[in-house]
Amino acid sequence: MKDFEYLAPKTIEEALSLLSQYKEEAKIIAGGQSMLVIMKQGLIAPEYLIDIKGISALDYITYDEKQGLKIGALTTHRDIEKSPIIQKHFNVLSEMERNLATIQTRNWGTIGGNLCHGDPAGDPALLLIALNAKLKLKSLAGERLIFMENFSKDLLEVDLGSEEMLTEIQVPIQKPRTGVAHEKLMVMQGDAGIVGAAVSITLRPEKETCEDARIVLSNVSSVPYRTREAESRLIGKVINDTLFDEAGEIASAGADPPSDVHGSAEYRREMIKVFVKRVGQKALERAMQA
Ligand SMILES: Cc1cc2nc3c(=O)[nH]c(=O)nc-3n(C[C@H](O)[C@H](O)[C@H](O)COP(=O)(O)OP(=O)(O)OC[C@H]3O[C@@H](n4cnc5c(N)ncnc54)[C@H](O)[C@@H]3O)c2cc1C
Repeated sequence: MKDFEYLAPKTIEEALSLLSQYKEEAKIIAGGQSMLVIMKQGLIAPEYLIDIKGISALDYITYDEKQGLKIGALTTHRDIEKSPIIQKHFNVLSEMERNLATIQTRNWGTIGGNLCHGDPAGDPALLLIALNAKLKLKSLAGERLIFMENFSKDLLEVDLGSEEMLTEIQVPIQKPRTGVAHEKLMVMQGDAGIVGAAVSITLRPEKETCEDARIVLSNVSSVPYRTREAESRLIGKVINDTLFDEAGEIASAGADPPSDVHGSAEYRREMIKVFVKRVGQKALERAMQA
């Protein structure tokens, strides 16, 4: 690994000043679970490494009935999994975290690091898109909010300027009669998903017709893949298994899955159909009980 200068700011302002000073020469490190891997592989070699783990102001989980859920970027996966606030109001996030990597990785890895790494196989991004979440990005010039849906640009590439830092994830209160579910295809628990799906379904007041739907898939494209065509197959209809099958076919046809040691593109296309239906059924059940 190439030598670098290690910097450890204790406040957000200090970190932003360092980013502004060193720009492309600097990289943030949070839990280091992805960063150290790509540094060891020689894929990046920053001159300055800005360790934000000591910025306690970025580590929090809050909830209120108007503003919804707010998660500081430095919150670890394990803290999200175990948070009573999240288990009460957004248990699907806790469920997702339980299947993310091992406890050791969840203890170090942060939600902000996961999203900024921009891995299309990552679990939080697709679920946060299904939940219509926003990200708060800060620089010395100010701050901006961006929908999670628009954050991923390409493989390992996100909409984050060299002087910007992700500070917060905001999840809005879901509409009444909404159910959300996430599952992924793993060989062993905690494996990265060969294919993952997050589905959100909102029912009309009579609890039969689908008012709104979101279907988002991981590891089937260079970025999390939201399939509006498949969603529109469900919206305005009384959902049944046939409609889920059709939505799965549409999602599968629109995806651009990779072929790798974990599965061929053809296999992934089949799994998309299975997971759109399976996760969709779970989301529908939850919407009926909501
Ligand atoms: C063995 C193993 C198994 C894994 N399995 C899974 C899995 O099943 N599902 C899954 O989703 N992920 C999985 N991961 C990925 C893991 O979740 C991420 O590596 C971790 O969450 C990254 O967070 P971090 O804090 O360690 O980020 P780091 O590695 O420190 O940083 C990652 C990237 O984000 C940037 N960054 C970090 N924080 C910020 C910030 N606040 N603002 C701007 N940029 C920032 C860094 O500059 C870097 O580019 C696995 C990782 C390992 C090592």
